[in-house]
Amino acid sequence: MNHRTVIDLRSDTVTKPTLAMRQAMFDAEVGDDVYGEDPTVNRLEARAAEIVGKEAALFLPTGTMGNTIGIKLLTEHGQEVIADSRVHIVDWELSMTAWFSGCQMRTVETTDGILTWDRIRGLIKPVTFNAAPTGAITIENTHNLGGGRVYPQEVIDEICDGAHERDVPVHMDGARVFNAATASGRSVREIAAKVDTITFCLSKGLGAPMGSIIAGSRPLMDRARLLRKRLGGGMRQAGVLAAAGLVALEHGPAQLPNDHANARFIATRLAEIEGVIVFPGETNIVIFDIAATGRIPREVSAQLRERGVLMSAFSDRLMRAVTHRDVTREQCETAIGELADVIGG
Ligand SMILES: *Cc1c(COP(=O)(O)O)cnc(C)c1O
Repeated sequence: MNHRTVIDLRSDTVTKPTLAMRQAMFDAEVGDDVYGEDPTVNRLEARAAEIVGKEAALFLPTGTMGNTIGIKLLTEHGQEVIADSRVHIVDWELSMTAWFSGCQMRTVETTDGILTWDRIRGLIKPVTFNAAPTGAITIENTHNLGGGRVYPQEVIDEICDGAHERDVPVHMDGARVFNAATASGRSVREIAAKVDTITFCLSKGLGAPMGSIIAGSRPLMDRARLLRKRLGGGMRQAGVLAAAGLVALEHGPAQLPNDHANARFIATRLAEIEGVIVFPGETNIVIFDIAATGRIPREVSAQLRERGVLMSAFSDRLMRAVTHRDVTREQCETAIGELADVIGG
């Protein structure tokens, strides 16, 4: 595998910083961000807030920290957080809702990760003497394990309106919200208009080497700054990283239509392989079920690796391919050829 070009479809987190990002990092003006004195971080935060249409934003090392802070901002210990059952916050964030916010998750089973107000409404609980009240609702847009599904805008707005009427705030885990914007033709500002807090990743399809953003009202973000420090996220001369983030924010979204087209190409070709069932999707994530082929995802993934193709095995049935700026259409074609060969042979 060493000398061949590896086609890495495990995740859009694997993108390497572009030349423009590296140049911006080299040139970055910096200061101590814990004192609020890093001009590049300040520029990134101001620009991010403007793009998502919130009063303020905060630069963070990871999206996990963003969700951890978002939930903490909106809840009190001893409450419940309503979410779809397969969100990143439940599956991949080391139970931070319990550990840091002292809340439990109230999860809802869905087919594609998309919650609706109808599903949520009956789960909202007021303060009583014998049940944990609802602290917040979180929605993941796009929904990763749902196959990169995009929340319909009416659904987001209905959830937010219904929740707010009952004094329950809404957090959006928008790790890939720019993919949602690309697929729906709406601006991130419009998508996030009614949520109280939103996080998104600079480090995924937008291509930055690391970093995420949380955004919301000024008072919430003032508190978020304190929580970030508490979690060990005071980053000093972080302008070198924010500089790459700014390039990602300004130029990353333009790449996403191409990633989506490549993912649709993969989905179409996968569906032609006997026994493979592809989840519907509209962004850069393709989840597919290979159980009917009689093959085991972990083994298929290992065999593909020997051929220089990386794809994730997700369960004893499911595999995932994620497109991003560092894979070409031709490489997608090669990857599917190898997959068909491995499954067929
Ligand atoms: C990647 C991702 C995150 C954040 O992940 P980090 O690795 O902590 O940056 C959060 N939510 C979703 C849906 C993600 O895909």
